[in-house]
Amino acid sequence: MPETSEHSAAAGHRFDTVVIANRGEIAVRIQRACRELGLKTVAICSEADREAPYGSTADSFLCIGPSSAAKSYLNQDAILLAARLAGAGAIHPGYGFLSENAAFADAVEKAGLIFIGPTASSIAIMGDKISAKRAMMAAGVPCVPGPDTALPDDPATIERIALEIGYPVIIKAAGGGGGRGMRVVPKADLLHEAIALTREEARKAFGSPSLYMEKFLEHPRHIEIQVICDDHGNAVWLGHRDCSMQRRHQKVVEEAPAAGIAPDIIQPVGLACVQACLQIGYRGVGTFEFLYEDGAFYFIEMNTRLQVEHPVTEMTSGVDIVRAQIGVAQGHVLDLTQGDVTCEGHSFECRINAEDSDSFLPSAGVVTHLALPAGPGIRVDTHIHAGYKVSPYYDSLIAKLIVHAPTRAEAMARMREALAGTEVEGISTNIPFLRALFEDGPFAQGETDIHYLEQWLKLRRAA
Ligand code: ADP
Repeated sequence: MPETSEHSAAAGHRFDTVVIANRGEIAVRIQRACRELGLKTVAICSEADREAPYGSTADSFLCIGPSSAAKSYLNQDAILLAARLAGAGAIHPGYGFLSENAAFADAVEKAGLIFIGPTASSIAIMGDKISAKRAMMAAGVPCVPGPDTALPDDPATIERIALEIGYPVIIKAAGGGGGRGMRVVPKADLLHEAIALTREEARKAFGSPSLYMEKFLEHPRHIEIQVICDDHGNAVWLGHRDCSMQRRHQKVVEEAPAAGIAPDIIQPVGLACVQACLQIGYRGVGTFEFLYEDGAFYFIEMNTRLQVEHPVTEMTSGVDIVRAQIGVAQGHVLDLTQGDVTCEGHSFECRINAEDSDSFLPSAGVVTHLALPAGPGIRVDTHIHAGYKVSPYYDSLIAKLIVHAPTRAEAMARMREALAGTEVEGISTNIPFLRALFEDGPFAQGETDIHYLEQWLKLRRAA
C-alpha cells in the first residue's frame, strides 16, 4: 500500500541512535532523555574528557580529537565520521559548540542524518541578528528602536542614525554571541571610535564586520519566551523566564516565571512569538529574548537551540523540553496544545561554575569532595563526581542547581537551603557568591534589572 506523504515524511525522520555532539552536564541531560525514549546513544569526547562519566553509560563512546575544542567538539568532519562509524541516525548538538552553526546543520542533513534542531535556513536567518530583527518586525514582534539594516560606512549617515535613535545607543555585531561584540555609546563624540573598535572585534571574533545600532535601554530586565514547534504547523510557548542576573552580559541565575508581569502583558508577546515561528516555518525548540522596560517588550535575539536555563521552564510547565525536542525531530506531531500549557509555582537555577567567587577567574583541578543537595523540589544537573578532573579547556559550568516551590519566596528559601547543602572541594567555585546573592534584599523583592548584579558586586568589593 502506498504511504501518504505525511507518513513517508515521518518515516524518513525515524532514528534509533543519537550522537550527542557535546560534553558536560548537557551531554548527561540529553543522554537521559534518549534512554527514556528507548534510543541508543553515542557519546563523543576530546582527549581531555576521556574519563567523562557519561562515556561509560552511553552505548558507544568515541574520542574524536585533541583537547582543544576547535579540533574536537567543533570538528564537523570528526563528528560526522563518528556518526557513520556508530551507525547513528541523528545528531543532537546540545548548546554552544555547533548548535547554532547553519553549515553544520546542513552537512548533517546532507549526510542523510537528522539534525536535532531547526533547519539550516532558520539557523542562518536567526543567527544574523539583523536578519532576525527584520523577520521579527515583519511578524509583528516588538523590537528595540533602531534600523533593521547593517550600518553603512558613511560617517554622516551613521551620525544621523544615532541622532534619530537618540543617545545612548549600543553598537552590536550582527554575528555576535556570548555577550561579546557589543559597545555602548553614551554620546556623539565617542561614536566613530566605538564603531571602529566593535567592527574590528566582530571581524576577528565572528568572521563578519557587519554591525547594527539600536537604542541602549538603561534599566531593562532580560525576559525570554521558550517555544517548541513541530514539522506539522504546530507551535506553543511554554511561559517566560527572567535572566536579568548577569555578569558581563552572561547569565548567572535564571528564574521562571519572570516576577511581577501581569498575564495580559506577556500573553500577546508569547502569541507573537508563536506566530513568528509559524511564519518562518520554525521547527524544534527556541527562545525569543527580550528586554523589558517600563511595561514594554523589545526583541533582541532568538536562540535556535536548547538553552542552559531550560530546566526552570521544565519545572514550572512540567514539559520535558529535551524529550519534546527529540520527538519533533523524529517527525512526531507535538503532543501538547497551547491550552495544555499551565505553568505552576516558581523555579530558580544557579549556574555553579569552577571559578573564584571574588575574582571569577576560572579554576581547574580535581574535585576532592562533593556533596549535592536532595529533597522535594530540588534538581541537580551535573556531570561531575568526587575525583572528577575539571579541565581548563572548556566553559567553567560544572553543575546547575535548580529548585521549584509554590511561590517565589519559598523557591528562594529552598535555593538557600540547597546551596547550603552543596559542597565542592579541591577547586574554587562561585558557591559562596551565590549564597550571598540569595541573601540580598532587593533580589528577594524581585524585578531587579540587568545592571543590578554588576552594581551589587561593585558595592560588595568596596565594602
Ligand atoms: P548575545 O547574543 O551576546 O547573548 P544579546 O543580544 O542577547 O547578545 O544581548 C546580551 C545582553 O546584552 C542582554 O541580556 C542585555 O543585558 C544586553 N543588551 C543587549 N542589547 C541591549 C540594548 N539594546 N540595551 C541594553 N542592553 C542590551
